[in-house]
Amino acid sequence: MISLLGLDLDGKLVIVAGGGPVAASKAATLRSVRARVRVIAPALCEDLVDAVAEGGVEWLDRRVLAEDLDGAWLALAATGDSATDAAVCRWAKERRIFAVHAGSGRSGTARFPALLRRAGLAIGVVSEGKPDPRRVRTVRDELAQVPTLAAGDATETREQIEDILASAAVDLRRRRPSPGRVTLIGGGPGAEDLMTVRARVALSEADVVITDRLGPRSIVARLPIDVVVIDVGKVPGEHSPSQAEINMMIIDHARAGRHVVRLKGGDPFVFGRGGEEILACREHGIPVDVVPGVSSALAVPALAGMPVTHRGTASAVTIAHGHTRLPPAAFAQVADGSATLVLLMAVTLLAEHVGDALAAGVPADTPAAIIERGTLPDERTTRAPLDGLVAAAGEAGIAAPAVVVIGHVADPALLAGPAR
Ligand code: SAH
Repeated sequence: MISLLGLDLDGKLVIVAGGGPVAASKAATLRSVRARVRVIAPALCEDLVDAVAEGGVEWLDRRVLAEDLDGAWLALAATGDSATDAAVCRWAKERRIFAVHAGSGRSGTARFPALLRRAGLAIGVVSEGKPDPRRVRTVRDELAQVPTLAAGDATETREQIEDILASAAVDLRRRRPSPGRVTLIGGGPGAEDLMTVRARVALSEADVVITDRLGPRSIVARLPIDVVVIDVGKVPGEHSPSQAEINMMIIDHARAGRHVVRLKGGDPFVFGRGGEEILACREHGIPVDVVPGVSSALAVPALAGMPVTHRGTASAVTIAHGHTRLPPAAFAQVADGSATLVLLMAVTLLAEHVGDALAAGVPADTPAAIIERGTLPDERTTRAPLDGLVAAAGEAGIAAPAVVVIGHVADPALLAGPAR
């Protein structure tokens, strides 16, 4: 793991092995923080000749030797010769001196960050894994656009940077080719701010986003234009790709070395077929990460004022898939009044589900509710006792997506509190 230390190099000896432009630019960086820079190289590029002439940089006109590192605090291996650079790093390690390897960041023990200085703050960006200079510079440059930073306002900077990195506004894509990977993220029920920070960061690292009809579509619309967005949402009546086709799409893009974000509404494992996509990736040896999401099954009732469990009212909750009829056992606990039944995808078969519930012994006066487009601006809740639910739904013209809640937690009096 990489740590970011704010090193005080003032007056401390730093060995720069190499005399080319990379050495020159790092020597300038080191001089700017007042390090004592000693360049060791048989020849110097023009910039270094100037730096030496100006007196800021000392020069030893020969090849670097192990002993040169004695007494240094930091070393930079930038000779351009990989064997020599590796040797410099090795000599440094033997002496417990940190070393930056200019040609292969991973071979060293330190990295130069892309730096942003504002208002007495030094904000550094480094890659944690494989070095990716273009990527860290892009992030640094985007952070430089942060208005409060530009204005020199240091307060809450850390929180602001975190917010910005999580907002999907900063382009976090990798620039150096890397092996493909997949991140399966739950986007929450639709409201942008119900998407997790982790999911938003994954989205801003995406080369390809494969999205469904549900979930926070507004965030996807704001991604950089060169992010490939593929909508595989199932729009009724239109051809949409099969699950097998979606799996192949994910795999093909990942195999081409891209970071594929598979964005699902709610949580990827709650009727999201996330497990199937993971298995398909594993079969092809593609690494997959999962970012859980806020499921509509819990969040949509919550925001409509219904706690799916409530002490003394409901001690369990069943979340069922309503595309097909449920067995009588699915209604047992809601029938005895101890549990809440939450049905997803239950609009088409609503009459059948209500009929089955009544037949399974759920009392006709059990409170019930249908919440359409939960968490979105046009959210609507329709409430009725169980035996009046179908008529109420017909009257209201209920349409998907909607969550059906059956049980005493759907009673509006439950959380109403005392009248004022
Ligand atoms: N993985 C999703 C569920 C996918 S199944 C999740 O965890 O939320 C799709 C069903 O979820 C829809 O038919 C509907 O029943 C429900 N749903 C998803 N988003 C919803 C929303 N914003 N409002 C109401 N129901 C929603």
